[in-house]
Amino acid sequence: MSRVFTTCINCGVGCNLYLKVRNGRVVGILPSRSGPGEGRLCLKGWTAHKFIHSPKRLTKPLIRDGQEFKEVSWGEAIGLVAERLSALKEGYGSHSLAVLGSAKCTNEENYVLQKFTRAVLGTNNIAHCTPLSHASAIVGLAVAFGYGAMTNSIEEIEDANVIFVIGSNTTKEHPLIARRILRAVRERGAKLIVAAPLSIDLVEIAEIHLQHKPGTDVALINGMMNVILSEDLHDTEFIERRTRNFEAMKKVAERYLPEYVERITGVPAEKISEAARLYAKANRASIIYSAGITQNTTGTDNMVSLANLAIMTGNIGKKGTGVNLLTGRNNAQGAGDVGALPDVFPGYQRVTDRQAREKMEKAWNVADLDDKPGLTQPEMLNSACNGDLKALYIVGENLMLSHPDTNNAGESLRNLEFLVVQDIFLTETAKLAHVVLPAASFAEKDGTFTSTERRIQRIRKAIEPVGDAREDWKIIGEIAKRMGYDGLTYGSAEEIMDEVASITPIYGGISWDRLEDGGLQWPCWDRSHHGTQFLYEGEFFSGLGNFVPVHFKPPLSN
Ligand code: SF4
Repeated sequence: MSRVFTTCINCGVGCNLYLKVRNGRVVGILPSRSGPGEGRLCLKGWTAHKFIHSPKRLTKPLIRDGQEFKEVSWGEAIGLVAERLSALKEGYGSHSLAVLGSAKCTNEENYVLQKFTRAVLGTNNIAHCTPLSHASAIVGLAVAFGYGAMTNSIEEIEDANVIFVIGSNTTKEHPLIARRILRAVRERGAKLIVAAPLSIDLVEIAEIHLQHKPGTDVALINGMMNVILSEDLHDTEFIERRTRNFEAMKKVAERYLPEYVERITGVPAEKISEAARLYAKANRASIIYSAGITQNTTGTDNMVSLANLAIMTGNIGKKGTGVNLLTGRNNAQGAGDVGALPDVFPGYQRVTDRQAREKMEKAWNVADLDDKPGLTQPEMLNSACNGDLKALYIVGENLMLSHPDTNNAGESLRNLEFLVVQDIFLTETAKLAHVVLPAASFAEKDGTFTSTERRIQRIRKAIEPVGDAREDWKIIGEIAKRMGYDGLTYGSAEEIMDEVASITPIYGGISWDRLEDGGLQWPCWDRSHHGTQFLYEGEFFSGLGNFVPVHFKPPLSN
């Protein structure tokens, strides 16, 4: 039996583990002492291998034949996909085509997908599967600070004197982060504030539970800032030296008197004041949040509100502080980092920026990259529904389960002239496709994931792909070649990461050989740079941090 060192695929924490391999099969999992799990795995980690040898795995390319599918050779399937995409591009134009990458696929695969979309299909219609959660965090944090990512590191949770958890049922969703919170409270005397509409497990060890009504986060946070300002608990020196737009923030916060906020949130005014004092008086206060606050019609407002709270009290740019997003999917961070988003190239370089386009055109050996942001995932479905989008290529995503409105998803997907699904199972979405391509699982390929703390870590091939399944990047490279573009022909996934590093400043120092010892956290500017444990120590991305005042808006309901 051999053991292959790799990374868990079941959430953004990125625990390290070993796959136990016998006779070409993955037969079990062992935790690794290295990495954020510290020698432990949660139940999801222990069972991460269970699907690999499922008899339901896709093992052959399939082409629709009436109501059924028929098995075909790779040559036939790839030929058909290339031919149909070329014909639709010719007939309806590039913007009639779109690609959906996946926060479960590797960085290398998502990079290849976005390059294929931009360089071959000629559109920025590329997104991945977390538009309703992670995207609001990316946008909110980017507006306030510069980067849409967790500001600090997982291990620093235990350096905080006060931990403010909001929108995260941490013991259920990220158990090994919850373990750190527990240790910080029990062993290091940290105080915990939990803002949650329900009495979640963490409430048991919390100093204060803010049981606010769902969707009233902005009012709650504005209320806390009102108390901080009125009791002079804000960090004047930090605000003057490192931020802009404070006066506008003050004006908004002044309106959120605790008694007014009590009426909106249902949280007693005195509790709001207590939480504000506890947070603001801490030397090091860390905010931890997840989909419970990002996956909301006001998700971006929620994000900027948390950012406002952190910079008002100087709780950013130092160890044990920050605004810390816990991503749900294992590579939600990385998929966006490498450009599987409709408005940015790899490294969040804007498609509207002429210099960025020229840089990519040179690197990819193409002309006239699209200068308009493409469609987000919900926009793709709407566009398919109204007949503008003709073809969609979905990789590793089951929209028929993950989209909030499955009726709308089904109607939209059925309306497409051409749907390709590349996955490891014949999912509900794949059943609607014209072509289904069998992909390799995480145990069958090499690559990297970027964890919630911006840490780029390796996954390693333990077994050969089952049946005729192939790595996603190889499939896309073949289709691109058939469509007349050979800039996606790589010898290995490692070669792809070298290309990512060459055009992505925040990944500039990343190469696989440097990831052997625990990975690296971006920004990692060059090969002599050791990565960045926490962001914004000296300055924010564009110098100053932005206060972005927002008013409470009631959540939308159907
Ligand atoms: Fe895997 Fe997340 Fe559990 Fe760690 S916490 S073992 S990464 S599911």
